[in-house]
Amino acid sequence: MQKSFKENKPTLYVISTPIGNLSDITFRAIEILNEVDIILAEDTRTSGVLLNHFQIKKPMMSYHEFNKEAQENKIIEMMNEGKNLALISDAGTPGISDPGYEIIKSVIDSGFHVISIPGPSAILAALVVSGLIIQPFTFIGFLPRKQSDMKKMIETYQDRKETLIIYESPMRIQKTLNTIYSILGNRNISLSRELTKTFETIIRTTLDKAVSMEHNPKGEYVIIIEGNHNIQTHFDLSIEEHVQRYVKQGHSEKEAMKLVAEERNIKKSEVYKVIKIDS
Ligand code: SAM
Repeated sequence: MQKSFKENKPTLYVISTPIGNLSDITFRAIEILNEVDIILAEDTRTSGVLLNHFQIKKPMMSYHEFNKEAQENKIIEMMNEGKNLALISDAGTPGISDPGYEIIKSVIDSGFHVISIPGPSAILAALVVSGLIIQPFTFIGFLPRKQSDMKKMIETYQDRKETLIIYESPMRIQKTLNTIYSILGNRNISLSRELTKTFETIIRTTLDKAVSMEHNPKGEYVIIIEGNHNIQTHFDLSIEEHVQRYVKQGHSEKEAMKLVAEERNIKKSEVYKVIKIDS
């Protein structure tokens, strides 16, 4: 069997676990979970069910959004003592819309090994069956909850050509789809619900139809949205529209005006003049 631990240096294994169907665990995930000294788990009760199922008897330590700073020193201390650790989240790949980034960075910065034990993640599971262009894609994760922040964020993606991936909870799916439709207009989308589970459902449709459907308020969703394939070039835009496009993408008005001047190969003062007259 392949040796799991690198010589001499303690290691943090970042282990993907199933997103529903327990049979999706990998052999290597089980092997490493059985070998490490301690398992860092987002929720020790949820992970307890998984470990129990596979008869893995290792101590767990909680590592989640609300204790991650407090736990960091303890974790580094344990690694200084030579302990090997595993990091798991409630489902899928740690760090992907889940806790993980900070401790992974801190362990790397402390000079220890960090090794990935790949496996399930809802992103790829949903993307490959969406029927939409697979690459390039942008993973957005959860949108902000506040409506105005959500709108602002979606606007920054409206001119992007690549496929977009969004995570959403069932309670907000209807509202989120309405907001996406109001900003991006009609596009092909796919909605993957309860992937790998008994009631797995994949709806491949368009945003205009999706907003008038009733969506099951139970289960978890991945929304995949076709990129914008009708992007206007700046030749189709007035100077004001061109500036606004950059502002919506998140640039300040000043930056936007500079970019517009460069792109149109005109002086900045010409852009300022038009914007000033209009404001
Ligand atoms: N770390 C996980 C991963 O690698 O996919 C994601 C964790 S995030 C807190 C949970 C979100 O992932 C859900 O709200 C949903 O958007 C998506 N998700 C997780 N499991 C899913 C499943 N079985 N079917 C559909 N979406 C799922």
